[in-house]
Amino acid sequence: MDSIIIQTRLVERLLSPRTLSQRNHASKIKVDHEKQYVGFATLPNQVHRKSVKKGFDFTLMVAGESGLGKSTLVNSLFLTDLYKDRKLLNAEERINQTVEIVKHTVDIEEKGVKLKLTIVDTPGFGDAVNNTECWKPITDYIDQQFEQYFRDESGLNRKNIQDNRVHCCLYFISPFGHGLRPVDVAFMKATHEKVNIVPLIAKADCLIPNEIRKLKERIREEIDKFGIKVYQFPECDSDEDDEFKQQDRELKESAPFAVIGSNTVVEAKGQRVRGRLYPWGIVEVENQAHCDFVKLRNMLIRTHMHDLKDVTCDVHYENYRAHCIQQMTNKLTQDKRIESPIPILPLPTPDAETEKLIKMKDEELRRMQEMLQKMKEQMQEQ
Ligand code: GDP
Repeated sequence: MDSIIIQTRLVERLLSPRTLSQRNHASKIKVDHEKQYVGFATLPNQVHRKSVKKGFDFTLMVAGESGLGKSTLVNSLFLTDLYKDRKLLNAEERINQTVEIVKHTVDIEEKGVKLKLTIVDTPGFGDAVNNTECWKPITDYIDQQFEQYFRDESGLNRKNIQDNRVHCCLYFISPFGHGLRPVDVAFMKATHEKVNIVPLIAKADCLIPNEIRKLKERIREEIDKFGIKVYQFPECDSDEDDEFKQQDRELKESAPFAVIGSNTVVEAKGQRVRGRLYPWGIVEVENQAHCDFVKLRNMLIRTHMHDLKDVTCDVHYENYRAHCIQQMTNKLTQDKRIESPIPILPLPTPDAETEKLIKMKDEELRRMQEMLQKMKEQMQEQ
Protein backbone atom coordinates (compact mmCIF):
# COMPACT_ATOMS: atom_id res chain seq x y z
CA MET A 1 0.00 0.00 0.00
CA ASP A 2 1.49 3.34 -1.05
CA SER A 3 0.98 6.35 1.15
CA ILE A 4 2.11 9.61 -0.38
CA ILE A 5 1.29 13.16 0.66
CA ILE A 6 0.85 15.38 -2.33
CA GLN A 7 0.28 19.12 -2.15
CA THR A 8 -1.82 20.04 -5.16
CA ARG A 9 -4.56 22.44 -6.07
CA LEU A 10 -7.40 20.00 -5.47
CA VAL A 11 -9.34 22.20 -3.06
CA GLU A 12 -11.08 24.17 -5.78
CA ARG A 13 -12.12 20.88 -7.31
CA LEU A 14 -13.56 19.68 -4.02
CA LEU A 15 -15.68 22.81 -3.62
CA SER A 16 -18.30 22.18 -6.28
CA PRO A 17 -20.22 25.07 -7.89
CA ARG A 18 -23.25 23.73 -6.02
CA THR A 19 -21.53 24.10 -2.67
CA LEU A 20 -20.49 27.62 -3.55
CA SER A 21 -23.97 28.66 -4.67
CA GLN A 22 -25.43 27.13 -1.49
CA ARG A 23 -23.01 29.22 0.57
CA ASN A 24 -23.98 32.43 -1.26
CA HIS A 25 -27.59 31.55 -0.59
CA ALA A 26 -26.86 31.15 3.12
CA SER A 27 -25.28 34.60 3.37
CA LYS A 28 -28.30 36.15 1.56
CA ILE A 29 -30.64 34.68 4.17
CA LYS A 30 -28.54 36.34 6.87
CA VAL A 31 -28.89 39.77 5.23
CA ASP A 32 -32.67 39.44 4.61
CA HIS A 33 -33.46 38.52 8.19
CA GLU A 34 -30.82 40.62 9.91
CA LYS A 35 -33.25 41.82 12.58
CA GLN A 36 -34.45 38.37 13.60
CA TYR A 37 -31.08 36.69 13.24
CA VAL A 38 -30.96 33.61 15.44
CA GLY A 39 -27.75 32.13 14.11
CA PHE A 40 -28.69 28.87 12.43
CA ALA A 41 -27.54 30.34 9.12
CA THR A 42 -24.03 29.36 10.27
CA LEU A 43 -25.02 25.67 10.20
CA PRO A 44 -23.51 25.10 6.72
CA ASN A 45 -20.25 26.62 7.96
CA GLN A 46 -20.26 24.36 11.00
CA VAL A 47 -20.80 21.30 8.80
CA HIS A 48 -18.09 22.54 6.44
CA ARG A 49 -15.56 22.99 9.28
CA LYS A 50 -16.35 19.61 10.78
CA SER A 51 -16.02 17.74 7.49
CA VAL A 52 -12.76 19.49 6.63
CA LYS A 53 -11.38 18.50 10.05
CA LYS A 54 -12.48 14.90 9.61
CA GLY A 55 -11.16 14.63 6.06
CA PHE A 56 -12.71 12.92 3.08
CA ASP A 57 -12.34 9.49 1.56
CA PHE A 58 -13.13 8.14 -1.85
CA THR A 59 -12.75 4.69 -3.36
CA LEU A 60 -12.42 4.36 -7.09
CA MET A 61 -12.34 1.04 -8.93
CA VAL A 62 -10.86 0.62 -12.41
CA ALA A 63 -11.83 -2.33 -14.57
CA GLY A 64 -11.42 -3.40 -18.17
CA GLU A 65 -9.19 -5.54 -20.35
CA SER A 66 -5.48 -5.19 -19.64
CA GLY A 67 -3.54 -2.80 -21.88
CA LEU A 68 -6.43 -0.33 -22.31
CA GLY A 69 -4.56 2.36 -20.39
CA LYS A 70 -6.16 2.07 -16.92
CA SER A 71 -2.97 2.64 -14.93
CA THR A 72 -1.86 5.47 -17.19
CA LEU A 73 -5.22 7.21 -16.81
CA VAL A 74 -5.25 6.89 -13.01
CA ASN A 75 -1.74 8.36 -12.87
CA SER A 76 -2.83 11.20 -15.17
CA LEU A 77 -5.94 11.86 -13.06
CA PHE A 78 -4.18 12.11 -9.72
CA LEU A 79 -0.72 13.21 -10.94
CA THR A 80 1.02 10.40 -9.17
CA ASP A 81 2.73 7.11 -9.94
CA LEU A 82 0.62 4.45 -8.26
CA TYR A 83 1.90 1.55 -10.31
CA LYS A 84 5.66 1.68 -9.98
CA ASP A 85 5.83 -1.84 -8.45
CA ARG A 86 3.51 -3.46 -10.99
CA LYS A 87 4.64 -6.76 -12.51
CA LEU A 88 3.30 -7.42 -16.02
CA LEU A 89 2.54 -11.06 -16.94
CA ASN A 90 3.45 -12.69 -20.24
CA ALA A 91 0.90 -14.42 -22.51
CA GLU A 92 1.60 -17.88 -21.05
CA GLU A 93 1.08 -16.67 -17.50
CA ARG A 94 -2.18 -15.04 -18.53
CA ILE A 95 -3.78 -18.18 -20.05
CA ASN A 96 -5.28 -19.25 -16.75
CA GLN A 97 -5.01 -15.89 -15.08
CA THR A 98 -7.57 -15.15 -12.40
CA VAL A 99 -8.72 -11.66 -11.57
CA GLU A 100 -6.83 -10.12 -8.68
CA ILE A 101 -7.93 -7.20 -6.56
CA VAL A 102 -5.14 -4.74 -5.78
CA LYS A 103 -5.63 -1.70 -3.55
CA HIS A 104 -3.50 1.46 -3.58
CA THR A 105 -4.06 4.27 -1.11
CA VAL A 106 -2.85 7.85 -1.48
CA ASP A 107 -3.33 10.68 1.01
CA ILE A 108 -3.79 13.91 -0.87
CA GLU A 109 -3.79 17.23 0.93
CA GLU A 110 -4.63 20.56 -0.57
CA LYS A 111 -5.09 23.84 1.31
CA GLY A 112 -5.81 21.93 4.49
CA VAL A 113 -8.40 19.62 2.88
CA LYS A 114 -7.40 15.98 3.22
CA LEU A 115 -8.56 13.28 0.85
CA LYS A 116 -7.81 9.60 1.36
CA LEU A 117 -8.04 8.18 -2.10
CA THR A 118 -8.17 4.41 -2.61
CA ILE A 119 -7.77 2.95 -6.06
CA VAL A 120 -8.99 -0.61 -6.47
CA ASP A 121 -7.40 -2.20 -9.51
CA THR A 122 -8.59 -5.44 -11.09
CA PRO A 123 -5.62 -6.86 -13.06
CA GLY A 124 -6.37 -9.99 -15.02
CA PHE A 125 -9.94 -9.04 -15.95
CA GLY A 126 -10.76 -10.46 -19.38
CA ASP A 127 -7.19 -11.78 -19.85
CA ALA A 128 -7.70 -15.55 -19.64
CA VAL A 129 -8.70 -17.79 -22.55
CA ASN A 130 -11.93 -18.60 -20.74
CA ASN A 131 -13.43 -15.46 -19.26
CA THR A 132 -16.62 -17.00 -17.93
CA GLU A 133 -17.55 -15.24 -14.70
CA CYS A 134 -14.29 -13.24 -14.66
CA TRP A 135 -16.29 -10.44 -13.01
CA LYS A 136 -17.10 -12.68 -10.00
CA PRO A 137 -14.05 -11.66 -7.87
CA ILE A 138 -15.00 -8.03 -8.54
CA THR A 139 -18.66 -8.41 -7.48
CA ASP A 140 -17.52 -10.46 -4.47
CA TYR A 141 -15.12 -7.69 -3.47
CA ILE A 142 -17.85 -5.02 -3.70
CA ASP A 143 -20.19 -7.20 -1.61
CA GLN A 144 -17.48 -7.87 0.98
CA GLN A 145 -17.04 -4.13 1.52
CA PHE A 146 -20.81 -3.72 2.01
CA GLU A 147 -20.81 -6.66 4.40
CA GLN A 148 -17.95 -5.19 6.41
CA TYR A 149 -19.75 -1.86 6.62
CA PHE A 150 -22.97 -3.59 7.68
CA ARG A 151 -21.09 -5.46 10.43
CA ASP A 152 -19.38 -2.28 11.61
CA GLU A 153 -22.68 -0.40 11.66
CA SER A 154 -24.25 -3.12 13.77
CA GLY A 155 -21.21 -3.35 16.06
CA LEU A 156 -20.46 -1.58 19.32
CA ASN A 157 -18.04 1.05 18.06
CA ARG A 158 -19.80 2.95 15.29
CA LYS A 159 -17.79 6.11 15.76
CA ASN A 160 -14.74 5.19 13.74
CA ILE A 161 -16.16 3.11 10.94
CA GLN A 162 -13.84 2.90 7.95
CA ASP A 163 -15.79 3.25 4.75
CA ASN A 164 -14.21 0.97 2.15
CA ARG A 165 -17.29 0.76 -0.05
CA VAL A 166 -16.54 1.28 -3.75
CA HIS A 167 -17.98 4.65 -4.75
CA CYS A 168 -17.32 4.52 -8.48
CA CYS A 169 -16.10 2.08 -11.11
CA LEU A 170 -14.43 3.39 -14.25
CA TYR A 171 -15.06 0.74 -16.87
CA PHE A 172 -12.74 0.86 -19.89
CA ILE A 173 -14.19 -0.05 -23.27
CA SER A 174 -11.88 -0.89 -26.17
CA PRO A 175 -11.76 1.72 -28.95
CA PHE A 176 -11.07 -1.04 -31.50
CA GLY A 177 -14.44 -2.80 -31.41
CA HIS A 178 -17.79 -1.78 -32.87
CA GLY A 179 -19.47 -1.14 -29.56
CA LEU A 180 -19.73 -3.26 -26.42
CA ARG A 181 -18.25 -6.75 -26.36
CA PRO A 182 -20.13 -9.59 -24.63
CA VAL A 183 -17.72 -9.40 -21.67
CA ASP A 184 -18.45 -5.65 -21.29
CA VAL A 185 -22.20 -6.32 -21.21
CA ALA A 186 -21.79 -9.21 -18.76
CA PHE A 187 -19.54 -7.18 -16.45
CA MET A 188 -21.82 -4.16 -16.37
CA LYS A 189 -24.95 -6.27 -15.84
CA ALA A 190 -23.28 -8.11 -12.97
CA THR A 191 -22.21 -4.93 -11.20
CA HIS A 192 -24.69 -2.16 -12.13
CA GLU A 193 -26.79 -2.66 -9.02
CA LYS A 194 -23.80 -2.65 -6.70
CA VAL A 195 -21.66 0.25 -7.90
CA ASN A 196 -21.80 3.48 -9.91
CA ILE A 197 -20.42 2.51 -13.32
CA VAL A 198 -18.85 5.24 -15.45
CA PRO A 199 -18.07 3.74 -18.89
CA LEU A 200 -15.08 5.17 -20.74
CA ILE A 201 -13.81 4.77 -24.29
CA ALA A 202 -10.11 4.04 -23.79
CA LYS A 203 -7.23 5.32 -25.93
CA ALA A 204 -9.45 7.82 -27.76
CA ASP A 205 -6.45 9.04 -29.79
CA CYS A 206 -6.81 5.87 -31.89
CA LEU A 207 -10.06 7.22 -33.39
CA ILE A 208 -10.97 10.28 -35.45
CA PRO A 209 -13.78 12.57 -34.12
CA ASN A 210 -16.43 11.05 -36.38
CA GLU A 211 -15.54 7.53 -35.25
CA ILE A 212 -15.69 8.62 -31.61
CA ARG A 213 -19.14 10.15 -32.16
CA LYS A 214 -20.42 6.94 -33.78
CA LEU A 215 -18.90 4.69 -31.12
CA LYS A 216 -20.44 6.81 -28.35
CA GLU A 217 -23.87 6.59 -30.00
CA ARG A 218 -23.51 2.85 -30.42
CA ILE A 219 -22.48 2.32 -26.79
CA ARG A 220 -25.36 4.49 -25.54
CA GLU A 221 -27.83 2.46 -27.64
CA GLU A 222 -26.43 -0.84 -26.40
CA ILE A 223 -26.48 0.28 -22.77
CA ASP A 224 -30.21 1.05 -23.27
CA LYS A 225 -30.87 -2.15 -25.18
CA PHE A 226 -29.32 -4.41 -22.53
CA GLY A 227 -30.99 -2.53 -19.67
CA ILE A 228 -27.66 -1.58 -18.11
CA LYS A 229 -27.92 1.10 -15.42
CA VAL A 230 -24.76 3.18 -15.56
CA TYR A 231 -24.24 6.15 -13.21
CA GLN A 232 -26.82 8.85 -13.99
CA PHE A 233 -25.71 12.44 -13.48
CA PRO A 234 -28.24 14.16 -11.22
CA GLU A 235 -30.75 16.62 -12.68
CA CYS A 236 -29.50 20.19 -12.71
CA ASP A 237 -31.50 22.50 -10.41
CA SER A 238 -33.49 25.17 -12.29
CA ASP A 239 -32.01 27.95 -10.12
CA GLU A 240 -28.41 27.15 -11.09
CA ASP A 241 -26.57 29.79 -13.12
CA ASP A 242 -26.40 29.51 -16.93
CA GLU A 243 -22.72 28.57 -16.99
CA PHE A 244 -23.31 25.67 -14.64
CA LYS A 245 -26.32 24.53 -16.69
CA GLN A 246 -24.26 24.66 -19.87
CA GLN A 247 -21.44 22.61 -18.28
CA ASP A 248 -23.97 20.10 -17.00
CA ARG A 249 -25.53 19.75 -20.48
CA GLU A 250 -22.13 19.22 -22.11
CA LEU A 251 -21.18 16.67 -19.47
CA LYS A 252 -24.30 14.61 -20.11
CA GLU A 253 -23.92 14.82 -23.89
CA SER A 254 -20.28 13.67 -23.75
CA ALA A 255 -20.95 10.35 -22.00
CA PRO A 256 -19.43 7.79 -22.38
CA PHE A 257 -16.26 9.89 -22.06
CA ALA A 258 -13.54 9.22 -24.61
CA VAL A 259 -10.25 9.52 -22.73
CA ILE A 260 -6.51 9.63 -23.33
CA GLY A 261 -3.85 9.04 -20.69
CA SER A 262 -0.14 9.79 -20.60
CA ASN A 263 2.66 9.50 -18.07
CA THR A 264 4.87 11.98 -19.88
CA VAL A 265 5.08 15.74 -20.16
CA VAL A 266 5.80 17.08 -23.65
CA GLU A 267 6.26 20.53 -25.15
CA ALA A 268 3.31 21.81 -27.23
CA LYS A 269 3.16 25.38 -28.59
CA GLY A 270 5.79 26.50 -26.08
CA GLN A 271 3.99 24.97 -23.10
CA ARG A 272 4.79 21.85 -21.07
CA VAL A 273 1.69 19.63 -21.15
CA ARG A 274 0.80 16.03 -20.33
CA GLY A 275 0.51 14.40 -23.74
CA ARG A 276 1.54 11.76 -26.24
CA LEU A 277 4.16 12.63 -28.81
CA TYR A 278 3.70 11.01 -32.23
CA PRO A 279 5.84 11.52 -35.36
CA TRP A 280 2.91 13.50 -36.82
CA GLY A 281 2.01 15.58 -33.78
CA ILE A 282 1.02 15.75 -30.15
CA VAL A 283 -2.21 14.69 -28.44
CA GLU A 284 -2.79 16.66 -25.29
CA VAL A 285 -4.53 14.89 -22.43
CA GLU A 286 -6.04 18.08 -21.02
CA ASN A 287 -7.07 19.61 -24.36
CA GLN A 288 -10.86 19.42 -24.60
CA ALA A 289 -10.64 19.40 -28.40
CA HIS A 290 -8.59 16.18 -28.18
CA CYS A 291 -10.55 14.16 -25.60
CA ASP A 292 -12.94 14.19 -22.62
CA PHE A 293 -10.24 13.74 -19.94
CA VAL A 294 -10.92 17.15 -18.33
CA LYS A 295 -14.67 16.46 -18.24
CA LEU A 296 -14.05 13.13 -16.54
CA ARG A 297 -11.65 14.66 -14.00
CA ASN A 298 -13.99 17.55 -13.20
CA MET A 299 -16.93 15.23 -12.83
CA LEU A 300 -15.07 12.77 -10.64
CA ILE A 301 -13.30 15.23 -8.37
CA ARG A 302 -14.85 18.65 -8.64
CA THR A 303 -18.56 18.28 -9.20
CA HIS A 304 -19.88 14.77 -8.57
CA MET A 305 -17.65 13.10 -5.98
CA HIS A 306 -20.19 13.72 -3.26
CA ASP A 307 -23.10 12.55 -5.38
CA LEU A 308 -21.23 9.33 -6.23
CA LYS A 309 -20.81 8.72 -2.50
CA ASP A 310 -24.45 9.55 -1.80
CA VAL A 311 -25.73 7.17 -4.48
CA THR A 312 -23.42 4.43 -3.15
CA CYS A 313 -24.78 4.93 0.34
CA ASP A 314 -28.45 5.63 -0.41
CA VAL A 315 -29.02 3.27 -3.32
CA HIS A 316 -26.41 0.49 -3.64
CA TYR A 317 -25.68 -0.02 0.05
CA GLU A 318 -29.38 0.32 0.95
CA ASN A 319 -30.19 -2.44 -1.57
CA TYR A 320 -27.59 -4.66 0.05
CA ARG A 321 -28.86 -3.83 3.57
CA ALA A 322 -32.49 -4.42 2.61
CA HIS A 323 -31.48 -7.77 1.11
CA CYS A 324 -29.70 -8.76 4.35
CA ILE A 325 -32.67 -7.76 6.48
CA GLN A 326 -35.00 -9.64 4.14
CA GLN A 327 -32.83 -12.73 4.62
CA MET A 328 -33.07 -12.29 8.38
CA THR A 329 -36.87 -12.01 8.12
CA ASN A 330 -37.05 -15.16 6.00
CA LYS A 331 -34.95 -17.02 8.53
CA LEU A 332 -37.25 -15.81 11.27
CA THR A 333 -40.24 -17.13 9.34
CA GLN A 334 -38.55 -20.51 8.91
CA ASP A 335 -37.00 -20.94 12.36
CA LYS A 336 -39.30 -18.73 14.43
CA ARG A 337 -36.16 -17.16 15.80
CA ILE A 338 -33.58 -14.67 14.55
CA GLU A 339 -30.28 -15.89 13.33
CA SER A 340 -28.05 -13.05 12.31
CA PRO A 341 -26.39 -13.60 8.90
CA ILE A 342 -23.40 -11.88 10.48
CA PRO A 343 -21.34 -14.26 12.60
CA ILE A 344 -20.98 -12.94 16.14
CA LEU A 345 -17.32 -12.60 17.07
CA PRO A 346 -16.10 -13.58 20.57
CA LEU A 347 -15.81 -10.52 22.80
CA PRO A 348 -13.30 -9.85 25.60
CA THR A 349 -14.65 -9.67 29.19
CA PRO A 350 -16.57 -6.38 29.27
CA ASP A 351 -16.01 -3.55 31.76
CA ALA A 352 -18.87 -1.49 33.27
CA GLU A 353 -19.01 0.94 30.35
CA THR A 354 -19.00 -1.83 27.76
CA GLU A 355 -21.61 -3.73 29.75
CA LYS A 356 -23.86 -0.66 29.63
CA LEU A 357 -23.35 -0.46 25.87
CA ILE A 358 -24.09 -4.15 25.45
CA LYS A 359 -27.33 -3.70 27.41
CA MET A 360 -28.30 -0.83 25.13
CA LYS A 361 -27.49 -2.94 22.08
CA ASP A 362 -29.50 -5.85 23.48
CA GLU A 363 -32.39 -3.50 23.95
CA GLU A 364 -31.97 -2.28 20.38
CA LEU A 365 -31.85 -5.86 19.09
CA ARG A 366 -34.96 -6.74 21.06
CA ARG A 367 -36.76 -3.79 19.47
CA MET A 368 -35.55 -4.92 16.05
CA GLN A 369 -36.84 -8.41 16.72
CA GLU A 370 -40.23 -7.02 17.66
CA MET A 371 -40.25 -4.88 14.56
CA LEU A 372 -39.35 -7.86 12.36
CA GLN A 373 -42.05 -9.91 14.02
CA LYS A 374 -44.57 -7.14 13.28
CA MET A 375 -43.38 -6.91 9.67
CA LYS A 376 -43.77 -10.66 9.36
CA GLU A 377 -47.30 -10.52 10.71
CA GLN A 378 -48.17 -7.66 8.36
CA MET A 379 -46.77 -9.63 5.43
CA GLN A 380 -48.85 -12.65 6.39
CA GLU A 381 -51.98 -10.52 6.68
CA GLN A 382 -51.52 -9.14 3.12
P1 GDP B 1 -3.49 -1.17 -18.27
O1 GDP B 1 -2.96 -2.55 -18.42
O2 GDP B 1 -4.93 -1.08 -18.65
O3 GDP B 1 -3.23 -0.57 -16.94
O4 GDP B 1 -2.75 -0.27 -19.37
P2 GDP B 1 -1.47 0.67 -19.22
O5 GDP B 1 -1.82 1.95 -18.55
O6 GDP B 1 -0.35 -0.11 -18.64
O7 GDP B 1 -1.17 1.02 -20.76
C1 GDP B 1 -0.81 0.05 -21.71
C2 GDP B 1 -0.11 0.70 -22.88
O8 GDP B 1 -0.99 1.62 -23.53
C3 GDP B 1 1.11 1.53 -22.49
O9 GDP B 1 2.09 1.37 -23.47
C4 GDP B 1 0.61 2.96 -22.47
O10 GDP B 1 1.63 3.89 -22.75
C5 GDP B 1 -0.42 2.93 -23.57
N1 GDP B 1 -1.47 3.90 -23.37
C6 GDP B 1 -2.02 4.27 -22.18
N2 GDP B 1 -2.97 5.20 -22.37
C7 GDP B 1 -3.03 5.41 -23.71
C8 GDP B 1 -3.83 6.27 -24.54
O11 GDP B 1 -4.68 7.02 -24.07
N3 GDP B 1 -3.61 6.21 -25.88
C9 GDP B 1 -2.69 5.39 -26.44
N4 GDP B 1 -2.56 5.42 -27.74
N5 GDP B 1 -1.94 4.57 -25.69
C10 GDP B 1 -2.08 4.58 -24.35
